[in-house]
Amino acid sequence: MIAHLTAAVAHEIRNPVTVVRGFLQLYREDPAFDDPIKNKFQLMIDELNTVEQITSQFLTLSKPNQDQKPEKVDVKDVLQSVTGLVCSYAMLSDNQMDIEAEEDCFIFINPIEFKQLLMNLIKNAVEASNMGKPIKVIAKRNHHYIEIKIMDEGTGMSEDEIRSLGTPFYSLKSNGTGLGLMICFNIVEKYDGEINYESVKGIGTTVTIRFLATDGE
Ligand code: ADP
Ligand code: MG
Repeated sequence: MIAHLTAAVAHEIRNPVTVVRGFLQLYREDPAFDDPIKNKFQLMIDELNTVEQITSQFLTLSKPNQDQKPEKVDVKDVLQSVTGLVCSYAMLSDNQMDIEAEEDCFIFINPIEFKQLLMNLIKNAVEASNMGKPIKVIAKRNHHYIEIKIMDEGTGMSEDEIRSLGTPFYSLKSNGTGLGLMICFNIVEKYDGEINYESVKGIGTTVTIRFLATDGE
C-alpha cells in the first residue's frame, strides 16, 4: 500500500515540475534576461531534472526496473556536489559544513541514487542541529571498503528512536515526511552496503555508510 501511495505522490509531483521547468526553459532563451540570470535558470533546470529523476525513482520503488544503471563513481566528486547544494540550506542556520574526502575513493553505484542517499543523510544532520553547530563529513578507504561518516552535534536519538529509523512515515519533525531514511535504507541494501547509526541524546549523531570499494577501469 505504501509503495502504491508513494508512487502516486511521485506521479503527482512530476506534473507541476514539468510546467515550472518549461517556463524556465523559455526564460533561458529570452533576450530580456542577462547571462548571469540565465545561468541561474540553468541551475534551476538542472535541479528540476534531479527532482524528475528522483520522482521517477520513487515510481520504480514499487516495481524495480533496470534503467538505474550503476557505474564507477568518484565519492569525493559526488560529496562535493551534494554539499555544494546543501550548503545554502545549512547556511540558513549557520551550520558550518566541513568535508574531508580522500582522493581515489571509488564505488560501483548509480550516481543519482548515491546523491539522493547523501543528500538525505546530510539534510537530516542539518535539521537535527541547532544554530551554529558544525557538521562534518568524512570519506575514506578502510581496507576493501569506502566509509562515509556524517557527524552532527544535534539533538541525538535514544535507542528506541534509532530502532525506528527507516520505518515509512516515522518522523519527529513537524514538517517531516519520514520517507527519507526509508529510501536511504533501500539504496544501501540495493548495493550491498551497510548503514549504521551511533547517537547520544543531547550530544549528537554519527551515521556511517559503507560500500565495497571499486578499483577497475
Ligand atoms: P524526515 O527527515 O522527513 O523526518 P527521515 O526518514 O529522513 O524523515 O528521518 C526520520 C526521523 O529520524 C527524523 O524525523 C528524526 O527524528 C530522526 N533522525 C534522522 N537523522 C537524524 C539525526 N542526524 N539526528 C537526530 N535525529 C535524526
Ligand atoms: Mg529527512
